[in-house]
Amino acid sequence: MKRIAFLSLILILILVLLVGCSSASDFYVFGTTLQVKTENDISKKVAKGIYEKLDGYESIISPVVANSDLERLNKAEKDVAVSVSDITLELYKISLEMYNLSSHAFNPAIYPVVKLWGFDANTFVVAGQSKQPPQQADIDALLYLADLENMFVVDYTNKTITKKDSNAMLDFGAVAKGYSLGQLTDIVGDKKSIVDLGGNIIGFNKDYTVGIRSPRNSGSSVFGKFTLHSGESISTSGDYQRYYEFDGVRYHHIIDPSTGKPADKGIISVSIIAGSINGVENTNSAAYVDAISTSVFVLGKEKGIELINTIGVKAVIIYSDLSYDVCGDLDFIRL
Ligand code: AMP
Ligand code: MG
Repeated sequence: MKRIAFLSLILILILVLLVGCSSASDFYVFGTTLQVKTENDISKKVAKGIYEKLDGYESIISPVVANSDLERLNKAEKDVAVSVSDITLELYKISLEMYNLSSHAFNPAIYPVVKLWGFDANTFVVAGQSKQPPQQADIDALLYLADLENMFVVDYTNKTITKKDSNAMLDFGAVAKGYSLGQLTDIVGDKKSIVDLGGNIIGFNKDYTVGIRSPRNSGSSVFGKFTLHSGESISTSGDYQRYYEFDGVRYHHIIDPSTGKPADKGIISVSIIAGSINGVENTNSAAYVDAISTSVFVLGKEKGIELINTIGVKAVIIYSDLSYDVCGDLDFIRL
């Protein structure tokens, strides 16, 4: 009996030690799961602080949260100046830069078309369902709205955005998660931690081994792994994240603004990794990482790799035949 009690005590001690060493907390924000892992028992407080900060960002920049900047802007009539926050102005600035750098492959003004396809957070239900795609004529009728610089007039002094067409709409879904992760440095401080917001991941004060998900369900669920260095973030854009099928064809959520249809340049997953942009460390590097992953997905192999090299980031690109390219100085191991 004594022996059983002693063994139980040892087991409990081991469990306490394990939990004490590393702790994970899960939340739901930005329409996806948030997982925070830190290395000691103050983690709960840090994780809650991170959740609250991200939740605050979502209420400003999500187009589907009532009274957010984008919800008010998207439903506004043309020629009405809509007041927006500094966060929205900064996201617009980064987005415009990426719009130009990517030859308009990255384009937050494509939102009316994203909505028509049913990929907005209000409409999309679950990946893999069967659903009919929209008619070409309906897509074509909305494409003129994806003219970022002519549809939106931004006044940085008075902090307003004015639409030039009542039907124009913006969506920062391809950059907002990365942007928000980049703003967590103050909350995390010197604590060793890794934050995963629906596949956008950032690591602080430690190197972490991170896996890249297999885009197809063949064999292992992890395609490969690499080391995410302290201060770096990763963003993955993939055709398996939000999609439906019709007549055996997969229709996914990353829209090529030049056609209004799901991008189809042979890439099925692209992960961008960086802690600096153009060799310069900055809090917005995670935002650029996010925007670049979407851009490369739309651009395809050649133009995508050109963009990756121009900006100086690392990448793993997976093609539809499951072959892959690794760009930059990355210790990627295929699993
Ligand atoms: P991500 O997962 O970061 O590649 O972002 C994909 C999301 O961004 C989609 O769910 C849409 O809301 C939006 N989106 C789709 N296509 C584009 C595009 N070409 N440029 C900018 N945002 C897009
Ligand atoms: Mg993105």
